[in-house]
Amino acid sequence: MSAITEVATNGYGERIILNNNSGMVLLLTPCCDATGKGGGTGIICRKCHEDVDPVFGSCAMLNKGLDSVRSWLLTCAFGDDEDSVARTEEALTALFAVSVG
Ligand SMILES: [Zn+2]
Repeated sequence: MSAITEVATNGYGERIILNNNSGMVLLLTPCCDATGKGGGTGIICRKCHEDVDPVFGSCAMLNKGLDSVRSWLLTCAFGDDEDSVARTEEALTALFAVSVG
C-alpha cells in the first residue's frame, strides 16, 4: 500500500491527501498538484515556487483526532454551506477509513 492516499477533494477540486507514514493530511496546490512550503513572503508551491494560499502550507495530524482534522478541513475551502458540511464529513470518514487499513 502506497504511503500517500488521496482521500477527498475540496470545493475547488483540489486534492486532499493522507501520508500514512506520518499521519499528515495535506492539501495539494491547484497549479502543480504539489505540497506547499515556506518561502518568499509566505507559502509557495513546492514545484513551481509561485505564491499560494497559506492553507497549502498547513496540515492536519490524524492522531490529534476527529475534531482537529475537521477544523483543518474547514479551512481548506470546504466552506460552510450545507453541501460543504456533508463533503467535510465524507472526507473525514474516508480519512479515518484509509488510516486504519
Ligand atoms: Zn505550482
